[in-house]
Amino acid sequence: MKPPIFDYVKVSTVEEATAILADSSKEAVVIAGGQSLLPMLNFRLAAPEILVDISGIEALKSLIERDNVVTIGAMTRHVDLGSSPIIARHFPVITKAVTHIAHLAIRNRGTIGGSLCHADPAAELPMMALLLNAELMVAGGKGPRTIAAKDFFQSALETDIQEGELLVSVSLPLLPPNTGWGFEEVSRKSGDFALAAVSAILVVNDGEISEARIAVAGVDETPRRMNGAEAMLRGKMLDDDHLTAVCETIQSEINPETDLQASSNYRRHLIGVLTARVLKDAFAGAGGIFE
Ligand SMILES: Cc1cc2nc3c(=O)[nH]c(=O)nc-3n(C[C@H](O)[C@H](O)[C@H](O)COP(=O)(O)OP(=O)(O)OC[C@H]3O[C@@H](n4cnc5c(N)ncnc54)[C@H](O)[C@@H]3O)c2cc1C
Repeated sequence: MKPPIFDYVKVSTVEEATAILADSSKEAVVIAGGQSLLPMLNFRLAAPEILVDISGIEALKSLIERDNVVTIGAMTRHVDLGSSPIIARHFPVITKAVTHIAHLAIRNRGTIGGSLCHADPAAELPMMALLLNAELMVAGGKGPRTIAAKDFFQSALETDIQEGELLVSVSLPLLPPNTGWGFEEVSRKSGDFALAAVSAILVVNDGEISEARIAVAGVDETPRRMNGAEAMLRGKMLDDDHLTAVCETIQSEINPETDLQASSNYRRHLIGVLTARVLKDAFAGAGGIFE
């Protein structure tokens, strides 16, 4: 398949990009790594008049730690995120998640901004943004604004990004001491999108869980935080009975679709198995002793 005809502009500043995006005389869309947009053009699922290539904007490629926050530029490629010592030190759950994104050739081109804005329900980085309480900085439109990850993902392939807006960076607040993490995913073969994925962060103090976060992907129209199960974990130790109750709660709170890849029941089963694994990993990583 061939894409429809389009104009192409490569910009070198955020201001140049947002000026073109704001011009309503022609439909312009951003191209970052092109790993999702180009297939959509080739399948004629999108037909923009202009592609605004942001890969030359150096300001969007930084990854810095300052004042207990790590800020990742939207043009940071998956491969650089996965090999970043700052990410490995503070968010090893992301380092692991990146290894599950597609194949190396795609990770060499794809970007965190593109993954978040494309918002595939089974993608790893949107789930990471939810798990890690990310804030997304956007330029253009009616001025700069910040969107919490929980408000950003609205439906499959739909986000809160408005016409004329550009995602500039993603900020992640550092995690407290005594934090453990877990990440598990099942896909039909290496590099495929997840049939189901679960990630968790637990903070353990004096043997008890003081903070619990669980995020799932591949089982709803957007990645989701499992608030009910998180509340069940806070203030508790982790033992077999409690773990089973938490997994059953999550299984009852999701309603995955059946598609060509897997049935709803199989996805629900996977979520239960994977949740038990990630919670055990996170609890042990935070210094908890599983009873
Ligand atoms: C075969 C294959 C397998 C894949 N498997 C996986 C997988 O397992 N897991 C996974 O997570 N992903 C997977 N992907 C997708 C891949 O990770 C993409 O790189 C990613 O989804 C999009 O990033 P990109 O930089 O290529 O974005 P692009 O394709 O350039 O853009 C995607 C969308 O986001 C918009 N956009 C991009 N950047 C911005 C910005 N800064 N501000 C506003 N809008 C923006 C574009 O306009 C477009 O609508 C796969 C892709 C392929 C082709």
